[in-house]
Amino acid sequence: MSKKIVILTGAGISAESGIPTFRDSGGLWENEPVQLVATPEGFESDPERVINFYNKRREALKNAEPNAAHHALVQLEEKFGDDFLLITQNVDDLHQRAGNKRVIAMHGELLKVRCLGSQEHVFHCTEDQPEKCPECGAKMRPHIVWFGEIPFEMDRIQKALAKCDLFAYIGTSGAVYPAAGFRQLAKLSGAHVVCLNLEEISGGYTDEFIKGKASEVVPKWVEEV
Ligand code: NAD
Repeated sequence: MSKKIVILTGAGISAESGIPTFRDSGGLWENEPVQLVATPEGFESDPERVINFYNKRREALKNAEPNAAHHALVQLEEKFGDDFLLITQNVDDLHQRAGNKRVIAMHGELLKVRCLGSQEHVFHCTEDQPEKCPECGAKMRPHIVWFGEIPFEMDRIQKALAKCDLFAYIGTSGAVYPAAGFRQLAKLSGAHVVCLNLEEISGGYTDEFIKGKASEVVPKWVEEV
């Protein structure tokens, strides 16, 4: 039987591509209180602030390129094919740009916006968010999962975690649920659980910790898998 691999990535894998993480000093959220820019309530009370915040992040993404860690995960997918799944909490498009195809962007995508009318009109957006939906004229919002909202494709994620043999979480502080609970689900399903990060993550359910920068440790680890 073939080995099934599930990878979870967080902001740490994109840090060396120049995209700030959330909690580290100098992080993205230092100047922007999370409750104002990453909650439905924040959007309701000041949509312009929220839209500007994501417009700026979209602009910054243009200067970022995938790093060695992103590229290594493409090699892993090429090797394992349908037995590979990459779940990312990141809203940047660096995994997709590197060439990963089997990706679930569970917290949404910075380069997409959706309309508040049907919620089904989702558009690719590389510049500032359009004011109105080109399909129906309704207001638009970033295609981002905010605090208090349910991440995308949770059914598919849970099924993959229940069947995987190897689960690796990379560059994530393990502080935001439900993603923070994925290692537990994988472990209880019998998977070997590996953490690749700058710092050890507390809370257990991890068999192996590989300390270091993602661009250095991920390519080495991929060669060994
Ligand atoms: P995080 O910033 O919480 O954690 C990043 C982790 O990466 C840290 O453990 C850090 O030590 C590690 N790291 C940093 N540079 C690294 C490198 N070069 N190589 C390897 N590891 C490195 O980010 P996260 O875990 O992705 O956050 C989870 C989710 O939290 C995000 O997807 C986001 O949706 C959400 N979020 C958090 C906040 C907040 O913290 N206030 C606000 C909004 C959203």
